Amino acid sequence: MIVAHTGCIIDRLYMLENPAVPVYLLDGENPAIFDAGFSFLGHHYAAAISKVLGNRAPAYCLLTHSHFDHCGSVSVLKSHFPKMKVVCSEPAKATLARPNAIALIRELNRSSAEVFRKNGFSGDASLQFTPFEIDMTVKEGDVLRISPDRTLQVIETPGHTRDCLSYYIPEIKALICSEAAGIADPTGYIVSDCLVDYDQYVNSMKKLKLLDSDVICLAHRYVFTGQDAGNYIPQSLKYCDEFRILVETCLAEEHGDISHVMTRIKAVEYDDKPEPKQPEPAYLLNLEARIKAVGKRIGYTWE
Ligand SMILES: [Zn+2]
Repeated sequence: MIVAHTGCIIDRLYMLENPAVPVYLLDGENPAIFDAGFSFLGHHYAAAISKVLGNRAPAYCLLTHSHFDHCGSVSVLKSHFPKMKVVCSEPAKATLARPNAIALIRELNRSSAEVFRKNGFSGDASLQFTPFEIDMTVKEGDVLRISPDRTLQVIETPGHTRDCLSYYIPEIKALICSEAAGIADPTGYIVSDCLVDYDQYVNSMKKLKLLDSDVICLAHRYVFTGQDAGNYIPQSLKYCDEFRILVETCLAEEHGDISHVMTRIKAVEYDDKPEPKQPEPAYLLNLEARIKAVGKRIGYTWE
């Protein structure tokens, strides 16, 4: 099944607030939330979490990576849940301490609030991103206990970003992998989101493929369960290969002219796609990085 709405996915695992930028919640004695979406939705996430937990609070906020739409509301959530421990990878911690990264995360959250408000999203646009303390870093192989019958395994999955983590809950065979396994669109196409390194991205996905996953929670819009979960990562790897071949072909035919290559690939995977889809400027920014990630490995260089 492909779940595209918020609520309980399976026993004690929830997708909350808005499927486009959800927060996932795993309930237990030490409840964990995964990612923290946009700043302007901070109070909404907190309300959705409290609706499930009542007067309890999350013990952990586990970040998959340092992108603006995954850590936007950490400070707001901390104000609601002061004892919640914020957890991420060591490289994410380093990124989140850099003044230029903080300024970029703040600006992208501000501009996203405007875009989403125009599209009828509720939220508090006056809520700005503010930096936050990281309470704990985790690495490959670390395990957190959520309750006596729920553990959480940390898996390093670089390629989308260098600091990307996925989380696996073996007792319920659930995987929370953000964009480490791509972005599914409404037509079934999966965007290969290899922003920093194509080979790392593929290797990370091959690692995720070895897990026995009945539930795959993506960064945006969809949770795959059952047979659809079993098919998802092999499909994503197939699209990854097709994307690489398309980029290599276009780069050769366009003599490395990146703007021409972008136009051709956008025509294939974006122009005729139905809404909802990523705003075009964000898509183009990511597309350029994805093309360069493929081009670099066969010797193309750009300034
Ligand atoms: Zn991301």
